[in-house]
Amino acid sequence: MDSHFSPVFPFHWKAATMSNFSDWQDRMLRAVWRHGEHLPEEVLTWMHELYDERGEIPEPEFCDLWTDRTFSMARSAFETVTSSAEQATGKPATGDDFSYIDYTRDPALGPVGVVHIKSSEVSTPDPAEVLAAVAEGVQEFIMTHHQVPWPVCDEHDRGLHVAYFHETVVWKCTGGPGDGHVVRAIAPAVQP
Ligand SMILES: [Zn+2]
Repeated sequence: MDSHFSPVFPFHWKAATMSNFSDWQDRMLRAVWRHGEHLPEEVLTWMHELYDERGEIPEPEFCDLWTDRTFSMARSAFETVTSSAEQATGKPATGDDFSYIDYTRDPALGPVGVVHIKSSEVSTPDPAEVLAAVAEGVQEFIMTHHQVPWPVCDEHDRGLHVAYFHETVVWKCTGGPGDGHVVRAIAPAVQP
């Protein structure tokens, strides 16, 4: 504990940097209306990297970057999830006829953009949150538009639902003993 108060130069330098970072982080989280919320580790790490790289960028620029990152993660997740749905069901999940994913940025509604996928929505640049929202939306589309359940547990012959297994977004089945079983990860990774 004593080392905490050690008058060594690098420590003071680091403390000053940290305090600037947390002030800046505070301001940015207020700007995106997330102040006081529990944010995923991934988002906080990204903010750290951004700060190291670009310094104290102003609020509007941060809101733009937050939105861009959320949108690009959603595009990547949508591609992965729809292609897996198409392979499994043999039904189209993308195309000009279907416009069930929507990228909205309306200053009247909030400082950052929102992605809507059927009745599911996400506005946080966190790969797991984005993937979960997209998977739920695509599942809803397949079930309502094509009238087929997707995905299905081969063992219990029933529809799966989105769940978290530790930090990973998975398809889970409610069949079997206990509270069901994890069938598989939804996607290996979502790229920003
Ligand atoms: Zn099952």
